[in-house]
Formats: sequence, C-alpha cells, structure tokens
Amino acid sequence: MTARIIDGKALAARTRERIAQEVAELSAAGVVPGLAAVIVGDDPASKVYVGMKHKASEAAGMHSRQVILPTDTSQVDLHAVVEDLNADDAIDGILVQLPLPDHLDPKPVQELIDPAKDVDALNPYTAGRLAVGDPTFFSATPYGVLMLLDEAGVSTAGARITIVGRSNLVGRPLANILTLKGRDATVTIAHSRTKDLAAVCREADVVVAAAGRRNLVTADMVRPGATVIDVGTNRTEEGTLAGDVDFDAVAEVAGAITPVPGGVGPMTVTMLLQNTLEAARARRGPTE
Ligand code: NAP
Repeated sequence: MTARIIDGKALAARTRERIAQEVAELSAAGVVPGLAAVIVGDDPASKVYVGMKHKASEAAGMHSRQVILPTDTSQVDLHAVVEDLNADDAIDGILVQLPLPDHLDPKPVQELIDPAKDVDALNPYTAGRLAVGDPTFFSATPYGVLMLLDEAGVSTAGARITIVGRSNLVGRPLANILTLKGRDATVTIAHSRTKDLAAVCREADVVVAAAGRRNLVTADMVRPGATVIDVGTNRTEEGTLAGDVDFDAVAEVAGAITPVPGGVGPMTVTMLLQNTLEAARARRGPTE
C-alpha cells in the first residue's frame, strides 16, 4: 500500500486565501487585525520564524509589527514591552518568540500576555481554558494538525490517536483538543519514558509524531492504513529538513501521511493568522 500524501502546503495556501478575504472584509469595517512578534537577541532560527510570520501576516492584509530587542534586555524591560502591546488597541495578537536568552524566564512573560491577545496560546490561562473544555485559542501547531486531519477526511470521533511528545507547545494541547466534546478521540500521550512505544503506536488509528527525533517512527510501528502526522522538524547533515517519521518506509504502510517539509509547518503559521483574525473579531469586530 502506498499512502495518500496530505498536502499541507496546498491546504495552507487555500486557508490563507480565505483568511485574507476575511481580513479584507473586517478591514473594510474599520478593523485591521494586528499581530506583534517580540524577539529578543539574534538567534538565527528565531529570526527566520519571525520573518515568516511577518511576511505571512502582511500578505494576509494584517498589520504586522516586529519588536526586536537586544540580547541583554532585562526581564523587567521585556515585561514592559508586553504590557505596552497589551495596552495597544491596534494589536490583537502578541507572540514572544522562543527560546529567549538564558537569563530570561519565559513563564512570567507568557503569563503577562493578555488572554484576549494570546494567539500562541501559551498563557496558562489559555491552556487551562482548553484543559477544562472551554477553549479560547488553540495553539497554532495543534490547530494545524486538526485542520490536516479534517483535510484528509479523517474523523477523530472514536478514533484511537497516539501522540508522541508531551510538550506544552504541541503534545499536551493537541491531546486536549482531540478529546474535546465534538472531537471525541481516545488519546494516548507517549513520551521518552513510554514502555514499548512501537506497540503504543501500532494500536492507533492516527499517529502524531512530535518528539524532535529523526526516524523515531518506523514502518513496524504503524498499523496498515493508519494516518500519520509528522510534526517533527530535524536538520539533517545535508542541511535539509526531516521529520520524526521514516517517511519512505512508513508511506508503504500508512493510509495517509504528511511530508516534511510541506505538511504541518505551513499550517502552523497559517493557524497563527487564523487566531489573530479571531482575536481581532472578538476584541473589535462589528457586533451583529
Ligand atoms: P520538546 O519540547 O523537545 O518535546 C519533545 C517531546 O518528545 C517530549 O515530551 C519528549 O519526552 C518526547 N520524546 C523525545 N524523545 C523521545 C523518544 N525517543 N521517544 C518518545 N518520546 C520522545 O519538543 P516540541 O517543542 O514539542 O517539538 C517537537 C518537534 O516538533 C520538534 O522537532 C520541533 O522542531 C517540531 N515542531 C514543529 C513545528 C512546526 O510548525 N512544524 C512546530 C512546533 C514544533 P519527555 O517529555 O519524556 O522528554
């Protein structure tokens, strides 16, 4: 069997077109959604990610602001920047790019972001709302995974889904989303201490790999016909990007699979735009 490829790039392009249309409509009503990205220091990867988000939000017709702070920025000064953005009515979404330099603690920064503007969904309030089944924003990568499953026509209701990875960025929020009423999956979260990961993956209708370990998920770990979503991004020795899934071999077994690149990655930025649009509507949109 050869798996169907779930094309994240094409889905992202279509979704961004739809978002741009909705942004244009909202802008015509006097509300231009605004996204601010704060970056501290000169980590090259962070600069690339923030640059991508900036380009994508401008292309969607949003107001995009980059706040670039020097590496030696203090915790107090970073908090002041976030508070200014909280108070700025033109800004609907705030994200603070991680990792921060070692002397800065990201937790109080995330807690300071106004929940109404928390488009990265890393504030514990936002994560807690999702955990109690009353979500505000979905964090962008799990949201993208959800859209990819919908695109592939995979129903989550009653499905057994194994997520490999328990981070607050991907694994945990994704499990909380998939177990919401209406999504109704039966979720197993695996991690580095999981016994017999292969067996835990083999019993799943959907495997989501989010561990950051190249080739962690091999063909013998996937049930024939299962759907495989690869969140992992790993740099190869050749400088290319590879996922957590042994793609060629797994594609012979799976029913559907996302590639890396061209799967989850393009959807992450797209769903950040979606969140910013939703935030703008909720904060400033016309009331019907
Ligand atoms: P993370 O915080 O490092 O978490 C990795 C998780 O994987 C941890 O829970 C860890 O277990 C688990 N793990 C590591 N090795 C394992 C193994 N051998 N067996 C089973 N579980 C294992 O990483 P993250 O931020 O969630 O990101 C995960 C991957 O997704 C990375 O490659 C990252 O670059 C990628 N990512 C991609 C996008 C995108 O847009 N494409 C967005 C976000 C992240 P423990 O908890 O026990 O340590």
